[in-house]
Amino acid sequence: MSAKNEVLSLLSKEEVIKYKALPISVENKKLYIGITNPSLDISKLKADLMEDFKLKDVIPVIVSDASYVDGLSFYDEVRKQSPRETREEFIDLTETESIPTFEELNTQLQEAPIQDLLNLILLMGFNAKASDIHVEPHSDHTIIRMRLDGVLHEVANLPKERYSYILSQVELHSNLKLNADYPQNGRFSIKIAEQDLGVRVETMPSMHGDDIVMRLFNTQSKMLNLDGLGLSEYALPILEGALKRPHGMIIMVGPTGSGKTTTIYAILNQLNSESVKIITLEDPVEYEMEGVTQSQINEGESFAERLKAVLREDPDIIMVGEIREASTAQVALQAALTGHLMVSTIHANDAVTAIIRLTEMIGDANLVTASTNVIIAQRLVRKICPKCRASYEPTEYELKEFNKILNKMKEEIRPTEPYNFFRGNGCDDCQGIGFRGRIGIYELLEIDKSLQKLINENVPIFEVQEAALAGGLITMEQDGIFKALDGITSLEEVLKTIRE
Ligand SMILES: [Zn+2]
Repeated sequence: MSAKNEVLSLLSKEEVIKYKALPISVENKKLYIGITNPSLDISKLKADLMEDFKLKDVIPVIVSDASYVDGLSFYDEVRKQSPRETREEFIDLTETESIPTFEELNTQLQEAPIQDLLNLILLMGFNAKASDIHVEPHSDHTIIRMRLDGVLHEVANLPKERYSYILSQVELHSNLKLNADYPQNGRFSIKIAEQDLGVRVETMPSMHGDDIVMRLFNTQSKMLNLDGLGLSEYALPILEGALKRPHGMIIMVGPTGSGKTTTIYAILNQLNSESVKIITLEDPVEYEMEGVTQSQINEGESFAERLKAVLREDPDIIMVGEIREASTAQVALQAALTGHLMVSTIHANDAVTAIIRLTEMIGDANLVTASTNVIIAQRLVRKICPKCRASYEPTEYELKEFNKILNKMKEEIRPTEPYNFFRGNGCDDCQGIGFRGRIGIYELLEIDKSLQKLINENVPIFEVQEAALAGGLITMEQDGIFKALDGITSLEEVLKTIRE
């Protein structure tokens, strides 16, 4: 190690970040450290350093923000060799003052001391319930966007100089290499309002610096129960009925981000009791559930082989993260037929397509129809903010689409006129967006005798679709229409979601 590196390694990364301080030089057993914020109390750091390194004194000198950032880039090269490195990686936000609106955040980010930037951004992201925070450097400014209820919103526009500090803090906290010219990923956690929140970080070099994406996920998020999913009075009894059966397959269908994982956990939560053994096979484990044996599939490992091992553990209920290939489907369906309740997901657009796809995958319609209890397809729609909800006149296009969906509905479930539609006008509560939170729109397909017969006879898919509708299937778009008429979501939101 060079002399410079030796000095740098005197402070641990946590100390460098916590005290906004960097070691500069040692002369006659006196350590000079550069600090950016003279009002921070460094007496503890000073005492620790003097004791650990038998120093005579630790002398703080004020350095500019720019030289601190500059020093950080050297620091990364040596910090791994530091004798005082610890593994704890969290940002404490309990003392950070929260900001009410994006507008106010934008103002504060222009003026706040640079060491507070990341904290302010993370706290706002947490308070606004953002799932992702994007920091995007451009030629002369930096944009910060947050994903709320699945949609990105620009929340701040910063001068370019402020970007490099945010980047270096993110990199330090998530153990990434500074100034790398390749994509990286890492993680850290934040301590906030008596909880720990995990943050996964991805950086990618772009024209004007690294694009940063921070995904926030709550490791202690409360488990939903079935009532909290937003299933209609038609759908809930179907699912409850399927869960009461001791065996059979429950299949969830939907693209990434459709909320099917949440639904699966709500189902497992409902089934979870002392008298049953539940084993999950996940890739990866997303939430921890007490009383459930959760296992993670290793990279390259076959779901089917692991599933066979799980079956030897005498489970009552098994959740398989996703059925991707015939071998897994075969073992899972057999297990469902022979006394296990199986819960899994399959990639398809809707419930009927899913069962047909599963049938084609294993080439055994009888096995599929005999073991499947229910197929649940779902999407997520944003909920109108209750504080600024107001009725409005839909556009001609929206009405036309609405009528199309209405006309395909069976007479006995068709809603009665007059039809009222709602939207959110935007207020401080919803950051002017008009939506807050999301809810599922669902279709639950039960495989009854007549469907079983049609699928076993291998009829074209549209015939199965027609029979399902005639049998009383309420489709996702129909469920969405009901939720729009109830003022839970907007017609536009439903149409946009199901046409995607
Ligand atoms: Zn509002």
